[in-house]
Amino acid sequence: MIILEKISQMQHFSNNLRKEGKKIGLVPTMGYLHEGHISLIKRARELCDFVITTIFVNPTQFAPNEDFGSYPRNFERDVELAKNAGCDLIFAPHTEEMYSTGFHTKTCISNISEPFEGEFRPTHFDGVALIVAKLFNSTLPDLAVFGQKDYQQTLVIKTLVSDLNFPIDIIIAPTIREKNGLARSSRNKYLSPMEFENASIIYKALAEGKEVIEKGEADRKIINAYMLKKLRELSGIKVQYCASANADNLSQPAIFLAGERIVLLIACHLGKTRLIDNIVLTIPFQLRIEN
Ligand code: AMP
Repeated sequence: MIILEKISQMQHFSNNLRKEGKKIGLVPTMGYLHEGHISLIKRARELCDFVITTIFVNPTQFAPNEDFGSYPRNFERDVELAKNAGCDLIFAPHTEEMYSTGFHTKTCISNISEPFEGEFRPTHFDGVALIVAKLFNSTLPDLAVFGQKDYQQTLVIKTLVSDLNFPIDIIIAPTIREKNGLARSSRNKYLSPMEFENASIIYKALAEGKEVIEKGEADRKIINAYMLKKLRELSGIKVQYCASANADNLSQPAIFLAGERIVLLIACHLGKTRLIDNIVLTIPFQLRIEN
């Protein structure tokens, strides 16, 4: 496994790969790898000749009251897991390397960043867009793989790539879940065993939304109410949003159209841990006939 820390070394390395005609796949992560990250690395492995995983806990996407300082880290273990999944190189710059003093460029992606996560983490996507642009320019990939787990983030990144003409294909890989339905996340480490079990309510609420939609419900507020009712079965859960929206632009019409691709989105706190999840589905063209 090759491990690089300097941007100039990384660019030099990638330029040489490109000269050899190698297709480079990138998987950006904040480390503390789990099965979700591993699935992205494996996807990149299938699609590319050379796979780069970046490990960088990006300070600019955390607000001052968030968990940047305590975010879980285990570099040695990450290297081993990434290697076993088929990664060729880890790019793990230090904070000073990525953010040298005197950094003035802002990347603010309007509209798509504003609802949902944007409402509760107003500076988050500016930080995400900035670091992803910097990682693209450092690793020079042909393709980058992101997880559907962070659904709104995938839309932000697609907008960034399209607006700034990055010649990079964006691949979205499905969410990997625990046996109880909870989406894998580095932050699951914060959950007590009891909270871990209780957290399955999030996926159950999403499934509830899916079920009413499949039965023919297209009224957004009614769909949301079904999901919220399910979440409220767990006392003490603090819901930030429990919503449904158009999957391409996150618009929230009163009634969804037949055939419209939509996303169901939840963000909540269990104890001190903030969890997000989503599922994507299509509004059916006709009512399902129940036997
Ligand atoms: P993070 O390290 O949390 O910043 O995540 C790095 C990448 O892994 C992002 O593209 C995430 O969307 C993706 N990811 C995180 N959790 C999962 C999961 N459970 N399934 C699939 N991808 C995931």
